[in-house]
Amino acid sequence: PINRRQRQMCIRDSFVGAGPGAPDLITRRGAALLADADCIIYAGSLVNPALLGLAKPGCAIYNSAEMTLEQVLDTIRAAEKAGETTVRLHTGDPCLYGAIREQMDALDADGIPYDDTPGVSSFCGAAAALCAEYTLPNVSQTVIITRMEGRTPVPEAEQLEKLAAHGATMVIFLSIGLVDKVRQALLESGGYRPDTPAAVVYKATWPEQKVVRCTVSTLAEETRKNGITKTALIVVGDFLGENYERSKLYDPAFTTEFRQGTEAGQ
Ligand code: SAH
Repeated sequence: PINRRQRQMCIRDSFVGAGPGAPDLITRRGAALLADADCIIYAGSLVNPALLGLAKPGCAIYNSAEMTLEQVLDTIRAAEKAGETTVRLHTGDPCLYGAIREQMDALDADGIPYDDTPGVSSFCGAAAALCAEYTLPNVSQTVIITRMEGRTPVPEAEQLEKLAAHGATMVIFLSIGLVDKVRQALLESGGYRPDTPAAVVYKATWPEQKVVRCTVSTLAEETRKNGITKTALIVVGDFLGENYERSKLYDPAFTTEFRQGTEAGQ
């Protein structure tokens, strides 16, 4: 196996997670790759352009929002051929709704090596904006990340109403424009009450971040009232409520591998 340094010597193409918005929420590795890049192709509809300030002078910068997959690939291929490094900069973490698979498969077919640097996904940025924990004991131990079906279809078994029936913590991407349908699906699922807490987080971690706390029932109305039409996540669940059990891990009675608890017989 080749080591990281050898790999760095032959890998010139990097997929990089930009983080949710605030430019200091990119990873140090991502920032170093950006600073070193000869070519940056960034997802301009969502990536904070402030991150482009890390680029070195003379770096070629492309906004993929205005490009097709073919144009993106041709740009990467041309840079590769010239022996130049490329960063393909995706918002949040590239693994969620990043359309990276089709790029990676094409690069594989061309024999162009690449690597992937994770980023802070917006669902984590939204939790931070809410100062919330998605996984509370006795409330929910599951986070469902999904979207409402729109122009992009969602498999039948994953329709929002079916997933919502679990009543788990849900983070709904790419769906703020369909908030009425989201509300209806959540209510009809039986997984949540009309007064189950919900929130809309607009541009989490950006300077213009907005947090709207509401309920499943008032979700659509509050979204409209606040003029939020894009770049937002809908989060739903009783993790936003008042009740939960404290964790066993830090309970004085509970024995773990690292700490003797007070409970008899442990
Ligand atoms: N890979 C990204 C998601 C890309 S899909 C990630 O990990 O976050 C684009 C959707 O992500 C948007 O429609 C919106 O729902 C959500 N999104 C991205 N950045 C956001 C932010 N800063 N605040 C709230 N939602 C965001």
